[in-house]
Amino acid sequence: MITIDGAFGEGGGQILRTALAVSLVTGKAFRIDGIRAKRGKPGLLRQHLTAVNAAVEIGNARVAGNSMGSLCLTFEPAGIRTGAFRYAVGTAGSATLVLQTLLPPLLTADSPTELTLEGGTHNPYAPPFDFLQRAFLPLVNRMGPTVTATLERPGFYPAGGGKFTVRIEPVKKLVRLDLMERGAVLHREAVGIVSQLPRKIADMELAVLRNKLSWEGGSFRAEEVPNPRGPGNIVMVTIQSENVTEVFTGFGERGVPADRVALTTVDAVRDYVAAGVPVGRHLADQLLIPMALAGGGRFRTLPLSRHSSTNIEILKQFIDVDIAATKTGQSAWEVAMERSQLNNS
Ligand code: AMP
Repeated sequence: MITIDGAFGEGGGQILRTALAVSLVTGKAFRIDGIRAKRGKPGLLRQHLTAVNAAVEIGNARVAGNSMGSLCLTFEPAGIRTGAFRYAVGTAGSATLVLQTLLPPLLTADSPTELTLEGGTHNPYAPPFDFLQRAFLPLVNRMGPTVTATLERPGFYPAGGGKFTVRIEPVKKLVRLDLMERGAVLHREAVGIVSQLPRKIADMELAVLRNKLSWEGGSFRAEEVPNPRGPGNIVMVTIQSENVTEVFTGFGERGVPADRVALTTVDAVRDYVAAGVPVGRHLADQLLIPMALAGGGRFRTLPLSRHSSTNIEILKQFIDVDIAATKTGQSAWEVAMERSQLNNS
C-alpha cells in the first residue's frame, strides 16, 4: 500500500484529491496520514468527505477514516463503476473540486458517465465552472474523450446551491498532449457577475479592467444571476488563443473593494500574457494529472505553484512516469513527461 504524508508540499486538499483520482485509475490502494495538516482546520471537511465518498462509490472501494475531521484515510479501490451519479457538497464547498477527483478514472472507463454535482460552482481557491468548461475540459478532450459540462445554476460562497452536469464519453487510452505555443490571441472578454448584489459592483470592476488592460477589441459585459441563491461576485477574463483558452478569475469578498478584486485579476492576466506561455498557473497543476495518465506530454507554463510540484510528487508515487520541470526563462517553465523506460515493455 502506498503511504502518503498529508503535510507534504502544499499540505492541503490537493494531495488527497490527486491521490484518490490516481488511485482510482491505477487500482493502487493508499493510506494518507495528516490530511490537510498545513491548514488552519486540518482533516476532512464536508467538501473533501463528499469527494472521498463519491470516490468510494465510483471505485467500489474499501475505505476507513471517511468521517468529518478525520486526519487519516485508507482507500482500496476495486474497479470503476459508470452510469449516472449525483453528489451534493451540502454547503458552499466546491463542487468543481469533487469533479477534479472523479473525472480522471471516468476518462478511460468502459462506458459513459453522467455526473450531477451540487454545491459551490464559483468558489475562491477552486476552479470556477467556466474555467473547467473553457480552459481545462477542451484540453482533456484533445486527449481523446468527449467531456461536456453544463451549468444549470451558479453557486457562490458562502450560500452555495449551484448545480452542473458533466457527461463523459471515455476512450480506451488517453493520447499525449503537447502544448508548447499559445498561438495568436483570437478573442478576449471580461465578464463581471453579481448575484444578489448591486450591478454597479460588476460595472466598477469592468471599468478597472477596461482601463488597465487597454485591449483593442475584446468585450466587457456585466451579468446579474437570475433567481440568485445568495450573494456573490466574480470577475472573469477569458483569453482565447489559437492553441489554448485561459480563464482568470477574481473573487469578490466582503470588505474587499471591487477595484482591488479587478486589479488582482489584471495582474494575473498580465503575468500570463507577458510570459508568452500557453498554460497558466492553475491550468498547469490540473493538466498534470491527465497528462501523466496519458503516459506523456509537454507544456510551457508560468513558474510552478506548490500545487503543481505537489501533484508531480504524488503522481510519481502511483505511476511510472518521468516528470521533468525545467526553468526556461525568467517567468517560463517547461514540464515534460514520459513513461519510464522500465515500464515501456
Ligand atoms: P486547494 O487549494 O488545495 O483547495 O485546491 C485548489 C485547486 O483549485 C487547484 O487545482 C487549483 O489549480 C484550482 N484553482 C484555484 N483557484 C483557481 C482559479 N482561480 N482558476 C482555476 N483553478 C483554480
